[in-house]
Order: sequence, then C-alpha cells, then structure tokens
Amino acid sequence: MQALFNDLVGIVGETGVLREASDMAPYVADVRGFYQGNAQYVVRPRSTDEVAAVVALCVERSVPVQAQGGNTSLCGGSVPFADARGVILSLSRMRRIREIDAANHSMTVEAGCVLAEVQRAAIEADRFYPVSLGAEGSCQIGGNIATNAGGTGVLRYGNTRENILGLEVVLPNASVWNGLRGLRKDNTGFDLKHLFIGSEGLLGIITAATLRLHPLNTRHIAAWLAPVSIEAAVELLGLFQSSLGPQLTAFEVLNSAQLQKVLKHMPDRRSPLDPAHPWHILTELGCTTDEAGLQANLEALLQKAMSSGLLTDAAVASNETQRAAMWNIRHSVTDAIKAAGRGIAHDIAVPVSKIPEFVRRVTPVLEQRFAAIQIVIVGHLGDGNLHFIPLFDFDVWETFPDPQAVIDEVHRLTYGIAMELGGTFSAEHGIGRYLVAEMRQYKSGVELSLMRSIKDALDPRGLFNPQKMIPE
Ligand SMILES: Cc1cc2nc3c(=O)[nH]c(=O)nc-3n(C[C@H](O)[C@H](O)[C@H](O)COP(=O)(O)OP(=O)(O)OC[C@H]3O[C@@H](n4cnc5c(N)ncnc54)[C@H](O)[C@@H]3O)c2cc1C
Repeated sequence: MQALFNDLVGIVGETGVLREASDMAPYVADVRGFYQGNAQYVVRPRSTDEVAAVVALCVERSVPVQAQGGNTSLCGGSVPFADARGVILSLSRMRRIREIDAANHSMTVEAGCVLAEVQRAAIEADRFYPVSLGAEGSCQIGGNIATNAGGTGVLRYGNTRENILGLEVVLPNASVWNGLRGLRKDNTGFDLKHLFIGSEGLLGIITAATLRLHPLNTRHIAAWLAPVSIEAAVELLGLFQSSLGPQLTAFEVLNSAQLQKVLKHMPDRRSPLDPAHPWHILTELGCTTDEAGLQANLEALLQKAMSSGLLTDAAVASNETQRAAMWNIRHSVTDAIKAAGRGIAHDIAVPVSKIPEFVRRVTPVLEQRFAAIQIVIVGHLGDGNLHFIPLFDFDVWETFPDPQAVIDEVHRLTYGIAMELGGTFSAEHGIGRYLVAEMRQYKSGVELSLMRSIKDALDPRGLFNPQKMIPE
C-alpha cells in the first residue's frame, strides 16, 4: 500500500493524493447520503499526462479506478463500493479552459471545469453553452459527458451528447485518444466520442472536451403557469411549441406536492401563484435579438390558453429578479425532497403524449398499496422526463420493517408502467449502482451483451468503475 502511495505521489505530487479519512470524506459519500463507499486514496492529477500515468500504475497493480467529477451523481455512480480496494481519480484539479473559438462556436475545456464556470466563460465570449441543471455550481464537464446529462435546456438544445464536438480520453490501457475536433461534419469511420458520452467512467477517463456553443440569447422571459390538469399541461406544451418554435427554451413541470415541499423547507422561496393549483409550469422564452414581440407573443398565447380553458392562472416575470426567483424554486427541489422525507426517486421518460396516462395510472396504484405515500413530481415536461418521487415522512419510513422491500416494490410498480408505455427507467441520471437490477430486468439480452463486449474490449480486466451499470 505504501508503495502505491509513494508512486502516486511521484506522479501527482504530495498535495495530489489524499489518504486521511477526513480529507477523503467528501469523495466517498454520495450527494444524497444514500451510499457510503471507501477507497485507498483520492488521486487528483493536474494534466492528461498525469491521468495516463496514474492509470498505467493502477492497471499494473490491478487497482480499480473510480472516476469522479463533482460527485453530484444521483444514482451512486461516482462513489466506489465500501471494500476500499481502489482509488478515486478526481478530475477536480484539471480546470483549464484551453481555447474558445468564437467564430467556430466552440470551446475546449478540461474535464474538471465546473459547468457554471464554462457557462460564464462562454457568455464572456458572447456565446452560450446550453447545458443547465440544478447541480451546475458543482458538477463538472467530464461528469456531464460521462452521464450524458440532460437538464432544463434539452427541449431547445438537446442533451450533453448534442453539445459535444470532440473528446480527449485516457483509455484503460493508459493510451490517450485525442479526438478534440471542433467539426460539425466528420464521417471518417465510427464516431468514437459517442462511445464515451454516457459511459459513466466504465470505458475511459474523459480529460478534455470540445463543446458546441450557440448564439447568446440576450432577451429572456420566464412565466409561471397553472394548467388545469396534466393533460392541459401537455396540450399547452404543444401550443407553445407550434407558436413559438425555437423561442421556447424551457418547459418544466412541478405538481403541487413538490412546490409545497420547496415552500415549506426553503422559507425564503415565494410561489408566483397559489401553490394549491394541482400543476405548475415554469416556462422560458429566449431570443438573440431584443425582439419587442417576444413579450407580446407570450401574452397573446397565455390569453388564448386561458380562453380555451387550459390555464387557471399565469404570472409573467417582469424583471430579472423575478425570473431568477422562479428558477430558484425549480432548482431547490432536490434539497427540499431531501429535507422532506425518504423519497424513492425515479427518473423516468415516456413519450410526451403518454405523460398524463403514466401519472393517472401509477398514482392510484401506489396510493392504494401504501396509505401514507405522497406523490411528488417534478420534471422536464418538454422532454417527456419526469422525476417521479413517491415520498414517505421520515417517521413513517422508520416503521417499515424492510425498507428495501418497499423501495423494490415501488420501483417495480412505477417502472413497470413506464416501460409498458414505451418509456425508460433512466432518462438522464444514468445507472450507476442504483439501477443495475433494472438493467438486468428491462434491457434485452442483445443490448446487454453488446455493452459487455464493448466493456471487455476496452477494459478487459474490469478495473474501471467496477460493478456499475452493466450487470454481471
Ligand atoms: C441538485 C441536483 C440537480 C440535478 N439535476 C440534474 C438534471 O437536471 N439533469 C441531469 O442529467 N442530472 C442532474 N443531476 C445529476 C448530476 O448532477 C449529473 O449526473 C452530472 O452530470 C454529474 O456530474 P458530476 O461532475 O457531478 O459527475 P460525478 O457525479 O462525479 O460522476 C458521475 C458519473 O460520471 C463518471 N465520471 C465523472 N467524471 C468523469 C470523467 N472525467 N471521465 C469519465 N467518467 C467520469 C463517474 O465515474 C460517475 O459514473 C442533478 C444532481 C443534483 C445534486
């Protein structure tokens, strides 16, 4: 063990290796406090060459390598198991913005750059990097790519995958693949970057990326809407999409239970509308020119929605402070749920048209099975993606003799209906260790065996992020 420590220090320097339990604590537990892992060391290289040298050393000594970015994974993907066999390879010291090519609408950044820093750097260059999520103040670009993160901008700009032009990756054999190309067109064989996007640290360590930038929207309007039902919310989405086209940049949904949890546990948040309305939508419009028409378009649309009975009420943010306050509510949901009780998270997606059916079918099934269950829903309606979180008060949770059996049953009932509707059991958070059993249950044998073949080809000794994502 001491030999490994000395050799790691030889590569990354003394400050680059953590071994005290108190120093390693933030790296070995997940953000929600569901998983407690352990590791021999946390290693923090400063360059691609150092990452490659650490990988070479670990592979030579058969030491598992757990890649870690901002450690905001919601599926236990970023923390190792408790056996302390491996090392955590943290990208947090690789934070350089290598290049911004404004004319090419691209920027090349190191994997440890925090998402919010990247967004700011793009804005300073009069460009826009559109991936945005509640954890953007701490999640890293490498982690976003490894999980193909979604977030609130997918409706207009796509997932992380659609915003990546090139990658640099250290492979499990310690070679470095430099695929940092800023091209929109390159039909020269397999497009290998897609192999690593969404691979959750199983196939290689992403050390840098060339990101696709967009024109910067200079005008934004946010509005908070209360549709009469979930069916009306979906109809409203269609109306907004056909009337506003690319001006529509977000269409987020919360049910009343979710909003009330935010208001209760974050007392400085104020609901723009009566929180008792069953459903709430946060929508945003954006455009690159200061079109006076944007506000008028929105108001005309809201009028139309009111008179056709889709909307009960609406509030349009009249300044930046109000707009930020609306987004603060949306971005507080994870903390509110953590404070409110034991939530059983599901990150499902179904075709947008099936969202009402999903909600109408699954809610009574769960309510009949568990008397004290509360159905908390928040999600990216425009993407057909709901974070469906049945929740129990902590005192109720403690009365369950076998909590894991409750989790398993809620999962089975919820995922079963999502899958019947042509959906998925993980829309944007990935698999990690949380959903390995569901991979076995719902993925076809052909898909799983393809995944295993790719994993075995790149990482034959199974040292990169072992026991995650692909069932053994
Ligand atoms: C409040 C909150 C809100 C969130 N909202 C959203 C949301 O709206 N949409 C969404 O998609 N997710 C969301 N998430 C989940 C999470 O933020 C994303 O999955 C994010 O992309 C993870 O980035 P990270 O840097 O924290 O990665 P980590 O959590 O550190 O790692 C995630 C996975 O990626 C791997 N990995 C990390 N870095 C690298 C690398 N450089 N090379 C190879 N593998 C790597 C890890 O091994 C792990 O498997 C949210 C999380 C929180 C806490």
